[in-house]
Amino acid sequence: MAKKPSVYGPEKVCYICKSPYVEIHHIWQSDRRVIADREGLTVPLCHFHHQDPRYGVHGDAKLREFFRKDAQRRWEEREGIDEPNHETFIALIGENYL
Ligand SMILES: [Zn+2]
Ligand SMILES: [Zn+2]
Repeated sequence: MAKKPSVYGPEKVCYICKSPYVEIHHIWQSDRRVIADREGLTVPLCHFHHQDPRYGVHGDAKLREFFRKDAQRRWEEREGIDEPNHETFIALIGENYL
């Protein structure tokens, strides 16, 4: 299946600070990483906002949670899905974050 563009759009700048030096964060990891990649559930982040142990998404559980909610919302909107129980997203990722 073809890869879809990121739910954060085609622009390759850090979502938080707009730095042009970005790494791609997969909003879901391990066994769901392939799906995240295919569905565009990825966000460009600079190295600091990606990897910093305190402020980066890999160090900050609240920021991780924010991106999961936000990405689900954006994904459902892009796919034209309007379901109160979010069943299509759950079938894809295994959980509802909204
Ligand atoms: Zn940044
Ligand atoms: Zn990452």
